[in-house]
Amino acid sequence: MKYRILLALACVCAIVTTGVTLPAQALEPIRYTLRFPAPHTHYVDVEAAIPSGGRPQVEVYMATWTPGSYLIREYERHVEAVSANAAGRALTVEKSTKNRWRIATGGAPSVTLRYKVYSREMTVRNNWVEAGFAMINGAPTFLTLVERAARPHEVRLELPAAWKKVETALEPVSGSANTYRAPDFDTIVDSPIIIGNPVTRDFTVDGKRHVVVFEGDHAMIDADKVAADVQKIVNAGKGVMGSLPYPHYHFMTMVTESSGALEHKNSYLGMTNRFATRTQAAYLQFLSTLAHEYFHAWNVKRLRPIALGPFDYENENYVKDLWVAEGFTDYYATVLLRRAGILTGDEFTNGISNQIEQVQTIPGRLVTPVNMASFDTWIKQYRPDENTANMSVNYYPKGAVIGFLLDAKIRKATSGARSLDTGMQWAMQRYSGDKGYTTEQFYTVMSEAAGDDLKSWFAKAAESTDELDYTEALEYYGLRFRPVDMKTAAPYIGGGTRNDAGRLIVTSVRRGTPGIDAGLNVDDEILAIDDVRVRADGLTARLAQYRPGDKISMLVARRDRLTKIDVTLGADPGRPWRLEAAPNATDEQKARLNLLMVGK
Ligand SMILES: [Zn+2]
Repeated sequence: MKYRILLALACVCAIVTTGVTLPAQALEPIRYTLRFPAPHTHYVDVEAAIPSGGRPQVEVYMATWTPGSYLIREYERHVEAVSANAAGRALTVEKSTKNRWRIATGGAPSVTLRYKVYSREMTVRNNWVEAGFAMINGAPTFLTLVERAARPHEVRLELPAAWKKVETALEPVSGSANTYRAPDFDTIVDSPIIIGNPVTRDFTVDGKRHVVVFEGDHAMIDADKVAADVQKIVNAGKGVMGSLPYPHYHFMTMVTESSGALEHKNSYLGMTNRFATRTQAAYLQFLSTLAHEYFHAWNVKRLRPIALGPFDYENENYVKDLWVAEGFTDYYATVLLRRAGILTGDEFTNGISNQIEQVQTIPGRLVTPVNMASFDTWIKQYRPDENTANMSVNYYPKGAVIGFLLDAKIRKATSGARSLDTGMQWAMQRYSGDKGYTTEQFYTVMSEAAGDDLKSWFAKAAESTDELDYTEALEYYGLRFRPVDMKTAAPYIGGGTRNDAGRLIVTSVRRGTPGIDAGLNVDDEILAIDDVRVRADGLTARLAQYRPGDKISMLVARRDRLTKIDVTLGADPGRPWRLEAAPNATDEQKARLNLLMVGK
């Protein structure tokens, strides 16, 4: 996921549903038909032919979350009008939990289940149906049998007359129009479907079809430019990992003035705005997200922590390694864009600097180890609040920085013979697919790539709140952090504010700042400094009238009670974590940095 964004792990086990163990291929599929009789009302009508296996009762459920986006989402709240029949006879359907329904089959070998799903959430996890198109995701759409089985799931789409095309990474069923088959529930959950009139571009790498898809308001999107650059990113990904791990791949983007993206095994689904390809800054942001999701085709969709499979779609799946799954993917997004020739060298070091800055300016890095930030993703990462920065660290940038440091460490230890690319390739060879890796195994394979025992280094970087040590990596590449001149530092209070209809409201107060020491609170309304009113857009200009060390008196309204707070202004270091070439960098050091950028 990117801000973002897993994992179809086909369960190949045999199953027990009727007292008889059946090989997976013997299971009859669930066959869904999706209809859009009134798409402008944002509903998809679902009909599902569900084999009962002769049981008097079957139970179906809806997933409560989507792999890659670790929060219980309760998709079942959008399901209505659930009914069932067999051979024209109505069956009793009873809700058994928040997301499960029991159907009395009356002994029928197959039951027809019908329901409607309200589809109007423009996120990459959920559904959106409107007059012009539909975006369908598996988790919030397909009620499936409660069973641990690799049962095929087939879906047929009945398109409104104005919709001409379906785009999905699902395999089409030959001879049946707009019909697709997944070998198991994981795959149908992992394969978003776009229906409407998308613009598409195709290219082939290694004989594998890649499709770039835009649906929504795509008139201003330069699809040709995107396709050309995506092909370079694909080649860069192949360069890192050695080969392309999928049979085909869909890069799918909804141009819907929204954001976010989610990885899948053979596709990714993202959202952007209509101007995404118009300016260089917006375009790099778009491609950075794309490269991140694309690298997930290896890292997490195939090479994944053992804790992430098989999925329990109804409960939290606890995992400590998202700093690898998401963080290393973030690192490689930057690497891929550079090796694809899309980022300049300066843009590359700027990207790494951004990741370092995000880690080093968050007080919570000294409170929560990154592996525990991963473990607690279910209650924190997707539920940030005003105190999040004080108590937790984001595993995206911290994992990315650990990846950057580890890459340098392996290169240095092997005199440039191996790199993090080697470690990722070896990990892929050993643990991809259904195996998964334990944290210990991941440490081991990286230690082997380095030819050195890195376990204590990993324990410090990923399992403790110790500060990361940049010395070795910076020395190896001939880089340094740009010196900060505190003599010219601006005064600051610390924390964040927002302009709430003309009121200046405090939104966060960070640890280690003058604001928190003085007793400034979240939701305080700042009214005046030294008895002169501060307008909602005037705080920065007002603080510029002072120097670090000055004492000011702030008048705030706290739940409408006026209160004065004395603050001693601090010194804002600006952006202190910016990498630049060390003035005395040798040609050898510069050559090492170049090797990282070109791919060796
Ligand atoms: Zn991701």
